[in-house]
Amino acid sequence: MHLSADSPTVGVVGGGQLGRMLAEAASPLGVQLVVSDPTPNCPANHVAREQLVGEFDDYDTLRSLAERVDVLTYEIELADPDTLDAVSEETGTPVHPAPETLRTIQDKLVQNESFAEAGVPLPAFRRVDDADDLRAAGDELGWPVMVKARTGGYDGRGNVPVESPEDAADALAEVGAGEGGAVAEELVDFERELAVIGARGADETATFPVTETVQREEILRESLSPARTDEATRERAHEVARSVLAELDGRGVFGIELFERERADGPNEILLNEVAPRPHNSGHWTIEGCVTSQFEQHVRGVVGLPLGSTRRRGPTASANILGTVSEPARARLTGVEDALALADTHLHWYGKQEVRPLRKMGHVTIVGETEPPLSTVRDVVETLQF
Ligand code: ATP
Ligand code: MG
Ligand code: MG
Repeated sequence: MHLSADSPTVGVVGGGQLGRMLAEAASPLGVQLVVSDPTPNCPANHVAREQLVGEFDDYDTLRSLAERVDVLTYEIELADPDTLDAVSEETGTPVHPAPETLRTIQDKLVQNESFAEAGVPLPAFRRVDDADDLRAAGDELGWPVMVKARTGGYDGRGNVPVESPEDAADALAEVGAGEGGAVAEELVDFERELAVIGARGADETATFPVTETVQREEILRESLSPARTDEATRERAHEVARSVLAELDGRGVFGIELFERERADGPNEILLNEVAPRPHNSGHWTIEGCVTSQFEQHVRGVVGLPLGSTRRRGPTASANILGTVSEPARARLTGVEDALALADTHLHWYGKQEVRPLRKMGHVTIVGETEPPLSTVRDVVETLQF
């Protein structure tokens, strides 16, 4: 590539906060973004060059997007791999990561099967099509089990722990497994949750320092790096992440969610939870915390530029600003002056028009000196109110 007035343009299916932060990271590289999203004025709209308004699987929208750009990518798993394949074939615009990888990841059963086959360690799981299957799975794996809708779940919506065989039918109804079926997994009694952001470039891969993630009500609240575990476990997490990256096709970054579990007889083990074929909430801390952010890395990857250094600048913590409302309302955040008056606070506001219960509205990051300032980012987020 050469830099000129007509430097590469990336088309992104989805214009939420991930699209917005991609556009922010692309700008210094001279790379422009066009996003497509069904909601007019989506979070990426004000930062990207242009927004097309249309559904994530709408053929005409994706076709217009492909015609306007040099390479297509997506920031949401609802992007449709068949439509992406079709418009790519017709327009000659490449798609990264490969639609085939998106297809595998979209279905939690297929995803588990393909990584298990590749020898990646993950929780024991069973395919579940009805309540009888779920009761059998629980008897084999041991109660309680985690049941997950195969498709469409996010932020824990679509997942539910099931205590006993009597709860099987209700649990399947609750995760909405009626259409696409479900998968049951052993309920992992993990020590902590970890994540590694991995990147695939033209002929190289890279991994970011391990993140420790803190979930409450199955939603990511805080991320910190370094993770509060030992060096051997961090190295093991990188190994598992590299084995996951080797199974994926196409370029770009991937969020690799892991469980760390204690073992009576040896070092802690690492199990794969799930992979996101896009920048991931557990990597937002890299914007200030690493030499290259996950968003810049994704842009570099999909465009085919060399990947950047993933070196951590300092111990870092991020906390999500979630909708603390009981019902949807026009978004209006207070406490911003107080938060910004604190030294070292980086505030990211996603510009969503409406706040909803537990909706991701923004995040706060602080880079510390000796350890990740976890309690400080928590305190800052508590000063922010809707
Ligand atoms: P997202 O895509 O937003 O990360 P999701 O809806 O796809 O979320 P998962 O990542 O599968 O959901 O699960 C959400 C959380 O539920 C996990 O981060 C973890 O805290 C818990 N969880 C999921 N699977 C298991 C399991 N097998 N055992 C124990 N806890 C689990
Ligand atoms: Mg998920
Ligand atoms: Mg997850």
